[in-house]
Amino acid sequence: MLQCHAKNCNSNNYPLQLSKVEVVNQETEFNPMFLRNMLPKLEWNALVKTAFQINVTLPNALPESSTDELDEEFLKTLHRVLLETHIQQGQMTCPNCNHVYHIKDGIPNMLLDETEA
Ligand SMILES: [Zn+2]
Repeated sequence: MLQCHAKNCNSNNYPLQLSKVEVVNQETEFNPMFLRNMLPKLEWNALVKTAFQINVTLPNALPESSTDELDEEFLKTLHRVLLETHIQQGQMTCPNCNHVYHIKDGIPNMLLDETEA
């Protein structure tokens, strides 16, 4: 999950707020095991917010991995968000300092201007 890199911007600096995004979908093979293994490493709250910005709704709380709640439908949504959705163009704004990062050709430019670094 991307966070702000601006100097002295150390709190409330992720997730960056997406805007003007252009999203492409690339189908990849659905791999439930891979997703289950990935779950503990995710910043769930940040992911929910980011997904919402690209019109995907995820549950507010991460379902317990030991229960059946972690059903296939949930994993498929996660698969779509994490592995199939690519942001081609857009902007990301820091919720704390309002610094704007640009995404071009699928690559976020996290560099800061010299005056800001
Ligand atoms: Zn910031």
